[in-house]
Amino acid sequence: MFVTAQTVHYGSAILQLIHYLAQVLRMSISMSPTLYCYHCRTYHARDGMRLLVSKTGKRWRCIRSIELARRAISEREAFGRRVSAINKAEVEEKTRKSSNPERFAGK
Ligand SMILES: [Zn+2]
Repeated sequence: MFVTAQTVHYGSAILQLIHYLAQVLRMSISMSPTLYCYHCRTYHARDGMRLLVSKTGKRWRCIRSIELARRAISEREAFGRRVSAINKAEVEEKTRKSSNPERFAGK
C-alpha cells in the first residue's frame, strides 16, 4: 500500500478531530473529573478521592495521602514500642545491678 504525504496529512487531521471530540465527550460526561484535595492543596482525579466529614464540613482528600498518613502513624507507633522496650530493658538492667548483692560484698 502506497501512502502519499497528502493522505497522511488527511489521516492525522481526522485523528485530531476524533481526539478533540473524545475530549469534548469526556468533559460533557463529567464536568468535574478532578476534585480539590485539602491535604495536598491541589486537584486529583475523582477516582482517588475520599470524602471526609468533619465538624468544619465535608472535605475531599486523596486516598493516597490517607494511606501515607496511616503508614506514617503505624511506623511511629512501632518506633515508640521499640523505644519503650529498650527503656524497659535498661530499667530492668539497672534494677538488677543495684539489687546485686555482690556489689555490696566488700562493705
Ligand atoms: Zn491529595
